[in-house]
Amino acid sequence: CLAEMRDPDDRRFRYPFINCTNCGPRFTIIRGLPYDRHLTTMDEFAMDSYCGSQYRDPMDRRFHAEPISCPECGPSLELIDSRGDRIGGDPVKETVRLITGGAIAAVKGLGGYHLSCLATDEEAVQKLRDRKKRPAKPFALMFRDMETIRRYCLAGQEEESLLQSPRAPIVLLKKKGNSLPDNIAPRNGYLGAFLPYTPLHHLLLEDTGVLVMTSANFTDEPLISTERELQGILRVIADIALTNNRKIAHKCDDSIFFVPGGISIPVRRARGYVPEPVNVSAPCPLPVLALGGQEKGTFALSRKDQVFISSHMGDLGDIRSQQNFRYELARFRELLEIEPEAVACDMHPDYFTTRLALELGIEPVVRVQHHHAHAVSVMAEYGLKEPAIGVIFDGTGYGPDGNLWGGEFLLAGYRDFERLAHIKNLPLPGGEMAVNQPWRMALMHLWNLHGDEVLEKQSISNLFPDSKKTGIILDMAERGVNAIPTSSIGRLFDAAAYLLCGIGEVSFEAEAAIALEALALKADKPAGEYAVSIDWNSGIIDPAPVVAGIMSDLERRADSARIALSFHISMAEMVIEVISELSRKHCCGDAVFSGGVFQNRLLCELLLERIEKIDIECYFHRAVPPNDGGVSLGQQQVAAARISGGIDG
Ligand code: FE
Repeated sequence: CLAEMRDPDDRRFRYPFINCTNCGPRFTIIRGLPYDRHLTTMDEFAMDSYCGSQYRDPMDRRFHAEPISCPECGPSLELIDSRGDRIGGDPVKETVRLITGGAIAAVKGLGGYHLSCLATDEEAVQKLRDRKKRPAKPFALMFRDMETIRRYCLAGQEEESLLQSPRAPIVLLKKKGNSLPDNIAPRNGYLGAFLPYTPLHHLLLEDTGVLVMTSANFTDEPLISTERELQGILRVIADIALTNNRKIAHKCDDSIFFVPGGISIPVRRARGYVPEPVNVSAPCPLPVLALGGQEKGTFALSRKDQVFISSHMGDLGDIRSQQNFRYELARFRELLEIEPEAVACDMHPDYFTTRLALELGIEPVVRVQHHHAHAVSVMAEYGLKEPAIGVIFDGTGYGPDGNLWGGEFLLAGYRDFERLAHIKNLPLPGGEMAVNQPWRMALMHLWNLHGDEVLEKQSISNLFPDSKKTGIILDMAERGVNAIPTSSIGRLFDAAAYLLCGIGEVSFEAEAAIALEALALKADKPAGEYAVSIDWNSGIIDPAPVVAGIMSDLERRADSARIALSFHISMAEMVIEVISELSRKHCCGDAVFSGGVFQNRLLCELLLERIEKIDIECYFHRAVPPNDGGVSLGQQQVAAARISGGIDG
């Protein structure tokens, strides 16, 4: 198709919708099944005789290519300005000209719009940040070809083949040098890179080389995919829009992977992967619907041994995201002709998905503990026999004891689990505020180390200049007011990030941990050796000695990058120590790793090096993300196991 698109004598020369049976859109144009042109959004375009003859010819490579079209009969591009007025000339060439001059363009793709600007233009990138009100969250970059990627990023064999696969996901690659503006992914060791995956992208990238290509939406709102939704973006963020008249039936974001030690792990499972099912080893007698968590929303709908997982729908706190979630759920049920007879959800009473589970009127409703679901999601991917040791590290999830869990070692079966060990509970002062302000958890970890006299040490009080605020937080912690105990290891990473990178406040999830990892990547060697203290009777893992190690190395003015590396090593070694002991004690030879903290590539790689030396089979995600996007699969499997009364792998 690319060769034809570049051939001036071809009917589809520079035609941005060229496709065959092996390429082009599918899921995002499907209105109904079977997959046939009249049930896609291409039904608005009547095939001309040229396309029709190829479509009907069994010997043609476009035989039954449902989106087949040409410039005479198919969709066409239109370039408009911010008032919606048409800009004349060749839409692609004009877009390239305006982007090169610093404009921000909304570009309609397969599953929604991207916002695009020239990646080498620092000012344009900043303008996009300011207008999108997204100060620091990284932007993805689309590169013309693999050669251009190699100029800016380090890519291993596995990463290159993933980038060049037909699914063309975004792959998080290590940055090489500083030749692209820092504001593309500030305080981040990686760049999200992908290759052109539609003919239009190829045309745009030919003359630009590297473009920012970030999902067009407002923070926490769904991806924009219709011309009506585009209006809001055009007035506020984009100067121009390169649009077309082929409708998008399903919003679908780009998929994202990272590749620690050669293993491809999804961070976001969407375009290219949805609605392909995950096959599980234990079929469930009833169709089950699992609604997932609150962030990185996905649902799972099952039929026998197939689990169909929706695409990533973002954080479900926003009403528009909730509407989109309901819409996609209704479409999936229709498309797959599955009428669920059981519904699974989180135990958190305030999640949108928990409320939805109760509202749907489907019985039974199976409530699944968040970290149990995380563990089972990995077990299900590999069809493991129960039990497995679940190492679940994430932000905060609802625990059955009323505390917020997030640094957990579980003995996980498909139906139930036992909590074997966890990070010591510390107050989360101010709840959500403590998640957004890492300095609060830094103070809590120092308080855990030194007790009420924590601020008497000059070196510590210097770290917290606002003594009034500090006093309030300590008071909250001591009295246990608005300070739910949490075992979250994500919050420990936040604390370390405040001490070493000085990040007092974050603008997006995991910003502090990402900066800490980026800092550690700069180290040539670790500063010192830190180790947690573990009480094997209670299973409580106290990170205080690690925090003490960080502080003493800071006081002796050791390099902060080396300290950050030492911190990561101490976490990996803690995992190895704990799973070795638990494996012996419970005669369990399998360990599974899940939770958002396992998106930390450095941590994964430090673990992978150490796993080789122990006699435990360790499993990382490969089909669904370790973050909450994978929770729906785990919930579905727990519900299925409880319904069928036993899964034996
Ligand atoms: Fe989680």
